[in-house]
Amino acid sequence: MPLTLEHSYDEPGTPWLKGNLHTHTTNSDGSRPPQEVIDDYAARGYDFLMISDHDKLIDPAPFKSHGMAMIPGNEISAKGPHLLHIDASTFIPPDEDRQKILAQIAKDKAFAVINHPNWQEHFNHCPQEKLDAWEGYSGIEIYNGVIRRLMGTPLATDRWDRLLAKGRKVWGFANDDSHRPEDVELAWNVVQSKKKTPKAIVEALAAGRFYGSTGVEIRTIAVCGRTIHVETSNAQRIVVHSTSGKRETHVDAKEITFHVPEEAKYSYVRVECWGPGEAMAWTQPFFLKR
Ligand SMILES: [Zn+2]
Ligand SMILES: [Zn+2]
Repeated sequence: MPLTLEHSYDEPGTPWLKGNLHTHTTNSDGSRPPQEVIDDYAARGYDFLMISDHDKLIDPAPFKSHGMAMIPGNEISAKGPHLLHIDASTFIPPDEDRQKILAQIAKDKAFAVINHPNWQEHFNHCPQEKLDAWEGYSGIEIYNGVIRRLMGTPLATDRWDRLLAKGRKVWGFANDDSHRPEDVELAWNVVQSKKKTPKAIVEALAAGRFYGSTGVEIRTIAVCGRTIHVETSNAQRIVVHSTSGKRETHVDAKEITFHVPEEAKYSYVRVECWGPGEAMAWTQPFFLKR
């Protein structure tokens, strides 16, 4: 069988929609009431938002969304590592047994993302052994904005590469985890979706049709055979990583065309775009299939 690339993206030309899935309000430990937070994101031109208060599911319907698609959800927080319950229709009470929660989320046809694994003094809010052992989550936060002012590191691409190297198909999410006004618009997800409805956006997120960003804008992700083309507005360097994070190549340019060699020994590649300041963007992995 000739080598092909399995990936999650639509044909180029599908609209890109920007959103944040990790947002706190005065319903938990956020500093502002939900409507104020929603107004802030809407004024910045966001297309979708999920309020994710700690162990509290609120119905976003009564709030004025200003045209944003509001995704219902919450952050399951007590009794263990935090995770996002995305597209939640019922509240799942926190339970020490996180695998039980993940099974319940899957049963409800919602989906889960494991949050900020590298948070805290020992960079170990969620140990790798747990990420390895749990099943049924769709992704992890590879960037969590609020950790810019907390212990640990916002970045968790190291955790992601370890999972991907083991053959796990998990997506990389970038979220603000905003608690205060200064946490807003640090990190977001940009989804390919023809419709700006919660249903269409949730489907795209669950399927990996998005990239994470802290400021680099990706315009095009195109795959043809074994060739990946990524075009940005403002990258200064673009890096291609393969299994366990190994760097295959980089260019100092706004775009890259990368041909996966027929004899490649790695199991996936992913593209990181680095821009000015702390601006970055991360594509989802492209899996090699033979
Ligand atoms: Zn958290
Ligand atoms: Zn949070």
